[in-house]
Amino acid sequence: MPIRKLFLNSSFLKIADKLSGQQVMEWHAFFDQAQWWPREKLLAYQTDKLLRLLSTAVEEVPFYRDLYAQHGIDVSLIKTINEMHKLPIVSKKDLKASYPNGCTRKTNWPVKEYFTSGSSGNPFAVMVDNQTMSQARALMLMRANYSGWQQGDAVFQTGMSLKRGVVKKIKDLVFNTYYASAFDLSDARLDYYLDIIKQKNIKYLMGYPGSMFALANRAREVDLKLNMSGVVTWGDNLYEHFRKCIEEQFQCRVTDTYGCGEGIQVAAQCPAGNNKYHIFMPHVIVEIVDDAGMPVPRGEMGNIVLTCLEPGAMPFIRYKVGDVGRMCKEESCSCGRGYDILEKIDGRDSDFIYTPNGNKLIVHFFTGLFEYYPEIDNFRVIQEDVTNLNVQLVANDMLSETLLNKIRNEILDKGDNNLKVHFQIVQKIDEIKTGKRKFVLSNINKDKNHEK
Ligand SMILES: [Zn+2]
Repeated sequence: MPIRKLFLNSSFLKIADKLSGQQVMEWHAFFDQAQWWPREKLLAYQTDKLLRLLSTAVEEVPFYRDLYAQHGIDVSLIKTINEMHKLPIVSKKDLKASYPNGCTRKTNWPVKEYFTSGSSGNPFAVMVDNQTMSQARALMLMRANYSGWQQGDAVFQTGMSLKRGVVKKIKDLVFNTYYASAFDLSDARLDYYLDIIKQKNIKYLMGYPGSMFALANRAREVDLKLNMSGVVTWGDNLYEHFRKCIEEQFQCRVTDTYGCGEGIQVAAQCPAGNNKYHIFMPHVIVEIVDDAGMPVPRGEMGNIVLTCLEPGAMPFIRYKVGDVGRMCKEESCSCGRGYDILEKIDGRDSDFIYTPNGNKLIVHFFTGLFEYYPEIDNFRVIQEDVTNLNVQLVANDMLSETLLNKIRNEILDKGDNNLKVHFQIVQKIDEIKTGKRKFVLSNINKDKNHEK
């Protein structure tokens, strides 16, 4: 074992945990073991944590006490996970209205306030204590482990901000992490990043799917062959053509992961390479429900509702995070892990196009359609109002009026006949300001999203 890894696995991280008042390494060891527990043991653990969470919430958090009282719910009567649907769904809007006094509680750990979705212009504050943060950080290590990465392996990572505090800078040094901004993905910058990866012989890349795709695509353009050991993505949709490009160009598997800015790490793709997501069961309960909050059958698409089993400073119980997904029909995986399986995360609310007849088109509606047209190199769909769709296309010489009509008819047939589709041929699809690539932008549900 290289000295750096030995150093990382043993004393240093434990000392770092002590200094920062966290238990990342202890939790990491726990989750690492728990994933091999039999399913019954995992379910029993979850049930026990859930019942404690519910009693803590009603005793110490006015928001939940009042909410359950309004619905006439006595939580002491809830004995199993299968009865969770009796509890009301909680939205970002509900929590925001009672923040901070109504929805938080005192714990024995230091707390910190975090803001999520700052880029939407409507930040949502959450209070996270050290215990919950330790679990989330341990799971961040574990999701990276699913790609083959081990503590100490050099990583090139992209993110939203380059403002790294002293602690994070030390962490970057110890963890051998090269940190880059996902805002600047110009060709010159991408070439610079690719050069660092090559010079430092870095084998793992981590960050937003869009920035990983931009790197792979640039490497392809300049015909740079880089063999990576693994790529880990988070924070946004990993489109199939992103995955294909990254995996082909870097000759490795992409491990997509799922979490939310509220401090809940949810799932990561199985190391066996089947692209299914293992849910971190000791940390979170994932439900897939219809609009009334009732569970939908395995394999069917529905709203993702999360319950963080660690009460922390701000409990999240049946929290509608705003994404949609589906559970896997099978309960077990060939890898032998006991963790439950999400088949797919289909998209986020902000990626929906709402049509006049009430249909919702997810981004894969469009990616699935355009991938059959070699004439189209890139696209973006912008919804101005409920009937008008502006479709920006970057196309090659083979594009014709006949073909545009064919695409239009396909959108109307499969989506909604009442839509009006306007094509706009452009040279380039601009990045939006967050640096995240969005293929579907809706101007009508923006406000609605802010309120969720
Ligand atoms: Zn598996």
